[in-house]
Amino acid sequence: MTTNHGVVSAFDEVNVFFDRAAERLGFGDGQREMLRRPWRELQVSIPVRMDDGTIQVFAGYRIQHNAARGPYKGGIRYHPDANQDEIRALSSLMTWKTALVEIPFGGAKGGIQCDPRRLSEGELNRLTRRFTVNIEHLLGVNRDIPAPDLGTSSQTMAWMMDAFSQIHGHTPGIVTGKPVELGGSVGRDSATGRGAVYVTREAANDLGMDPAGARIAIQGFGQVGSWTARIAGDLGCLVTAVSDVQGGIHNDRGIDITELVRYQAESGTVVGFPGTERITNEELIELDCEILVPAAIDRTIHGENASRVKAMVVVEAANHPVTPEADDILNDRGIKVIPDVLVNAGGVVVSYFEWTQNLYQHQWDMGRVNAELNKIMTRAYQSVRDRVARDNVTHREAAFLIAVERVAHVAEIRGFI
Ligand code: NAD
Repeated sequence: MTTNHGVVSAFDEVNVFFDRAAERLGFGDGQREMLRRPWRELQVSIPVRMDDGTIQVFAGYRIQHNAARGPYKGGIRYHPDANQDEIRALSSLMTWKTALVEIPFGGAKGGIQCDPRRLSEGELNRLTRRFTVNIEHLLGVNRDIPAPDLGTSSQTMAWMMDAFSQIHGHTPGIVTGKPVELGGSVGRDSATGRGAVYVTREAANDLGMDPAGARIAIQGFGQVGSWTARIAGDLGCLVTAVSDVQGGIHNDRGIDITELVRYQAESGTVVGFPGTERITNEELIELDCEILVPAAIDRTIHGENASRVKAMVVVEAANHPVTPEADDILNDRGIKVIPDVLVNAGGVVVSYFEWTQNLYQHQWDMGRVNAELNKIMTRAYQSVRDRVARDNVTHREAAFLIAVERVAHVAEIRGFI
């Protein structure tokens, strides 16, 4: 399971879950290969004139995993560790995610290996435009629709839309997660966190856990983590720990999230927030709490620390935060893991609403967005729960069984094999 750089392959890791589902569904080798492999991969070089006058060349990727169920859909990641293997893994998760929540998209992912915190706004703008032009021939409202992910934002999407529109004419539907003034959907910013909280509510109910007063620790306080923290308060959860790339903070009596959002906006980090003790990202994973939400980067719960997780349930708001080895350890210890393809699907669900609104040149209000999101996330959770009971499998196994079955079925009725 290693890449040619000797590191564990993220694509192989997520395929452990795919393979288990394919095995159980009785798929032959050819069918498995067809569903496992990305349909198309593009790597591009992106030269950028830096503010100091030098030229720097960045590596960018767009990987289109599967479009059997609809146009490719998936985020664009800006991160120093972004690489082809990781983006391939994330593109496949998008295929299973869109199938699981039954929205009419396939799966894709893209990214640029860069540290966005070290680039000026002008450099980011030029990088994004050149990247968009380099992958533009793959994109289209009915072909492939990017969105924000780790290290990118609604501003990044505005630049992508503008660069694409300069070639093709005004095309708001080419990306989702745009600013509302440019055709973005209200509620998109909070959608992934909100969806994660809806799923947490359903899971807590099944586990007989009262969310009111339940302690929740959240790793990552970006787009996903900060909204999860804010909305978890609506269930009465007590957010006792959060973190960002610089470290974490903890207070077992609960952290005032509204104040923390203000503090982070001013200081650029959660670290040092008054009334909290400093902890590391590693310590956060092992904290005494009821609900653990990894909402930062991949593989933060692994073979080394899974045996020290104390939460009753792990809610995967990030993509691929739990390795297969850790997944087995947690399951053996009776800790429920609610999988990424379900938990963080709220983002792509509201992206679907945004795309629909763009096609019809129409704007939904917040009440409609959140009500429809609640309906889709609750339905998806219930389908997973029913499959868990029917097949005596874990939540992740159930989610993959449902998703893989749906994609395979559509591939068959389209008749391309
Ligand atoms: P973001 O860039 O807004 O926030 C990421 C957070 O993680 C920040 O607080 C950052 O400081 C922290 N972080 C970065 N590196 C870290 C490290 N090494 N250790 C600990 N913390 C670290 O990104 P986001 O959009 O919130 O995405 C977070 C996760 O959720 C990713 O796995 C992403 O793929 C997934 N996701 C995001 C969306 C979305 O709508 N944004 C949708 C589905 C899934």
